[in-house]
Amino acid sequence: MTFSQLPVPRLGPHANRPRAYPPGRPPHLPIRPLWVCRGCGLPWPCAEARLLLKIEYADHPVELAIYLSGLYHEATHDLFRLNPHDGPTPRELFARFVAWGPYRRPIVEPSEDDR
Ligand SMILES: [Zn+2]
Repeated sequence: MTFSQLPVPRLGPHANRPRAYPPGRPPHLPIRPLWVCRGCGLPWPCAEARLLLKIEYADHPVELAIYLSGLYHEATHDLFRLNPHDGPTPRELFARFVAWGPYRRPIVEPSEDDR
C-alpha cells in the first residue's frame, strides 16, 4: 500500500449550525480559524449560538453531542496551530465546546481520599 492509497482523514463536521435566526440576520456561526462568532464577535459558541443549537437539536441530543465534539476537535486543531503557546487549554476548549451540551455527567469533585 502506498501513501496515495491511504484513506484521506475525515474532516470534522462543517460548522454550519445553528441556522440564522431570525432568517436574514447574520448567523451565529464561527469564523475559522479564529472561532469567533460571525454574528456577534464573541468566542464561539456564543450564548445565542448555544441557545439556537439547543432548540435546533432539541429532538436530536446525540447528534448535537457529536456535532459539538467534532467542532471541539476542529477548534483545538485550529487554535493550537494559531497560537501554540498561550492559547486556550484543552480543558477550557472542552468546557466551551462540549461540556455545556447534552449528555454531560455532573462534575464529580475528587474526594479527600483522592487528593
Ligand atoms: Zn454570536
